[in-house]
Amino acid sequence: MMTKNVNAEIIAVGTELLLGQIANTNAQWLSQQMAAHGINVHFHTVVGDNRSRVEETFKNAQKRSDIIVVTGGLGPTEDDLTREAFQSISHLEMTEHVPSMKKIEAFFQNRGLQMTANNRRQARVFKGATVFDNNVGMAPGMMVSYKGRTWIFLPGVPREMKQMFNDHVGAILDKRVGGGTVIKSKVLRFIGIGESRLAYELDDLIRTQRNPTIAPLAQKDGVVIRLTVKEHSISQADMLLEQTKQHILARVGSFYYGTDDETLERKIVSLLKNQNKRIAAAESLTGGGFYQRLTSVPGASQVCLGGIVCYDPEVKTNIVGVSPLTIQSKGTISRECAAEMAVNVCRIMHADIGISFTGIAGTDSVEGKPPGTVYIGICNKEGDKRIEHCTFSGDRETVRQQSVIKGLEMLFNWIKS
Ligand code: ATP
Ligand code: MG
Repeated sequence: MMTKNVNAEIIAVGTELLLGQIANTNAQWLSQQMAAHGINVHFHTVVGDNRSRVEETFKNAQKRSDIIVVTGGLGPTEDDLTREAFQSISHLEMTEHVPSMKKIEAFFQNRGLQMTANNRRQARVFKGATVFDNNVGMAPGMMVSYKGRTWIFLPGVPREMKQMFNDHVGAILDKRVGGGTVIKSKVLRFIGIGESRLAYELDDLIRTQRNPTIAPLAQKDGVVIRLTVKEHSISQADMLLEQTKQHILARVGSFYYGTDDETLERKIVSLLKNQNKRIAAAESLTGGGFYQRLTSVPGASQVCLGGIVCYDPEVKTNIVGVSPLTIQSKGTISRECAAEMAVNVCRIMHADIGISFTGIAGTDSVEGKPPGTVYIGICNKEGDKRIEHCTFSGDRETVRQQSVIKGLEMLFNWIKS
């Protein structure tokens, strides 16, 4: 089937959005729906309840977009001015939508309430518009064509907006784009490789590939690649995404840990489960943050034995059994201390793998070492071990978080085949 390239934009009207009192979740949800219907969304705009600024926003949209979806400002109060603003720019006539007006009157009658005049405002629609019933609230929505553009007006209340979109708008959009276009995305997750290195390895693919598009993106926990495909059917889209994924993994697969919503800790717990291995931790600067991440995964009890938060040097010696000599000669922030912490906690808890964290998260140097100095140790019960010396920058919390992520990365590398 022939599909047309249709560009849309989403305008949210409401000062509370600009004040940051609520997030523009309507635009987020609508964009996902539009993508599923094969429509490109080029702009999200938020505009306050201000008549001239709403008009200006509408004029811009009329110039540049085929479909304009507006949410909010359809209610009965003075600051609900979406209709008025559109009338100003289009000069389309408004009429009272009789079924909607009857519904509003019945609402007040049934509750024995006096209806104020401003409630009539909600029932006004543009002449010739397709009116969408509001099954949840009062104000109807509508679609109207104006000088080659399709304008869709929906309520601001998310529940009402979604109901209207699902009941009416989706089917209309399918007709508009010729149906059968699907936009699908897949997110590939990597750890242990930087964004620039990843982009370098995939440079030719990124430059030449149009469908799917390939976009690397740095995140707190490593790097992701978002693949976005536009196809005629879900199965075709899935096939193309899978093919591209395999191309990418052939080059950088050794850093890959999961797709879409997969997390590093979930991947680690599932690997440990499969290998029937159990882990113990001794945490100084991370204060249990590493174990918190691991134990947040359902089913972690099968692989997590326990962790010791050993903040004070005495706890490192008395509980974790780090030699006082080591602490005297090398300090608590040292390769040697990290090694003993990992090896000892592994032995104390009869674990297969031990991991340890020691370092400086604060702003002052300790034991002559600069802030951000971190040692992470990992070992197995057979006696193999690896200690990494890291230098992180940022505030106290950032250093602690980076340490936890680095620990997860080291553990993942240790257990992946
Ligand atoms: P009403 O008939 O309730 O007045 P309306 O169509 O006039 O509806 P608004 O007054 O703009 O809509 O918004 C009603 C409520 O819906 C807001 O208080 C807010 O909680 C929510 N809302 C509005 N716009 C958005 C948005 N873009 N994203 C998320 N929530 C929104
Ligand atoms: Mg309102």
